[in-house]
Amino acid sequence: MINEAQLYQVLQEKFHFSHFREGQEEIIQQLLSGKDTLAILPTGKGKSLCYQLTGYLLPGTVLVVSPLISLMEDQVSQLQKLGEKAVVALNSNLSQPEKNWLLQNLASYKFIFISPEMLRQPAVFKKIQQLQLALFVVDEAHCLSIWGNDFRPEYRQLGGILQQLNSPLLLALTATATPKVAEDIKQLLFHKSFHLVRESVERQNISYFVEKTAEKEQRLREILSTVAAPGIIYCSTRKKVEELYQIFSGEFSIGYYHGGLASGQRRQLQQQFLAGELTWLLATNAFGMGINKGDIRTIIHYDLPESIENYLQEIGRAGRDGQASQAILLYKQHDEQVHYYFQKNLREERQLFSDFLQGELNIEKTELSELQQKWLAEAEEVGAATELMQRLKIHEAEKRQQLLTVLNYINEENCRREFLLKHFAEKITKVPEKCCDYHQSQLLLAEKPAKPTKLSTENEAWQVILEKIFKE
Ligand SMILES: [Zn+2]
Repeated sequence: MINEAQLYQVLQEKFHFSHFREGQEEIIQQLLSGKDTLAILPTGKGKSLCYQLTGYLLPGTVLVVSPLISLMEDQVSQLQKLGEKAVVALNSNLSQPEKNWLLQNLASYKFIFISPEMLRQPAVFKKIQQLQLALFVVDEAHCLSIWGNDFRPEYRQLGGILQQLNSPLLLALTATATPKVAEDIKQLLFHKSFHLVRESVERQNISYFVEKTAEKEQRLREILSTVAAPGIIYCSTRKKVEELYQIFSGEFSIGYYHGGLASGQRRQLQQQFLAGELTWLLATNAFGMGINKGDIRTIIHYDLPESIENYLQEIGRAGRDGQASQAILLYKQHDEQVHYYFQKNLREERQLFSDFLQGELNIEKTELSELQQKWLAEAEEVGAATELMQRLKIHEAEKRQQLLTVLNYINEENCRREFLLKHFAEKITKVPEKCCDYHQSQLLLAEKPAKPTKLSTENEAWQVILEKIFKE
């Protein structure tokens, strides 16, 4: 058995920390005692340390299934910085010779990061089966749920894969806390008893603001010129993201990101933002998973988030370094319309899908929408189309309810922190100095005001003229 002193010794020697963050020690202790664990930790609570440290204390390899190449590379370099050499990522970025070489030498690695697609390749899987696995980690486990935004069909095969590997010690990690997603994870991954760790969603270093304004664009301009950066501006559609980019790209150091961009472009933008070459990033909720940037000071929602759960996850990307940060939600009357529109589309898609299942719709499988194809895979897999249709209807009702809750948050006349915690059945324990607008907190401002950047020569000339006018 490993005692507490040994745990702290490894924490100090390998990670240079003197204490654990909330939840970490519990997770590690459970794993060390041989218990499969599902850990729901809000973003920025140090999830990776849980499997890294556990890995050092157990003989064998730690296999981490990860949905994104950028995420894997991030984790690999994190471990390398800690001095770990026996770490590798197996993904589609490898050339065939590289991959062959790695597969021959797989057993020499302590930490192996792998995409779910790669794991399913027979040649790869055969090699994995030969390893002595210390721990099997499913990172971003919410990707297996069709109820989330990040659904990955390959993730649904992981339950079967675990069985084929004789059920190694399992750790599933996620930041997404909705009960439905958690239920999906339990059902698909955990076949025996397991331990659940769910940490508080409270982030004392984030302050909350909602501003109602009829002039959102102008207000956004003021905010961008004055508040602490870097930051992310979330919009609900790709169109809006691009529209705002057109408006603001001449005035601020800003980029945009959404699922419609080519993967190379997305990577480049992520890199630029991470490296601090871009101050602001306009994004849909496609941006964020696996983004490990500690110094994000401000998260702005230009549109309504879809749910309080989504909201918490998106603003949770602020202040991972523990420094004061803020979340600002801009609301203009009738902003919810776009969500009503999404809901209507979803309902219609479901109705068409129902017709298709009943053979009343004369189209091919391939003509179904992306979402409908996901549903079809699900219907075929569980073999219970009726049950799926029932669940989809319930899901629609839930979406309506979620939107109402977001509107309630906007119209809340008391403490916003209290509202958010209450939504997750938590109580407020301490009102931080900078809490929310109800508590009369002020926006966190930039130390020096943002300088206009990227101006064209024509604009620069105008600026010079304006400066002259104001000097006179
Ligand atoms: Zn408050």
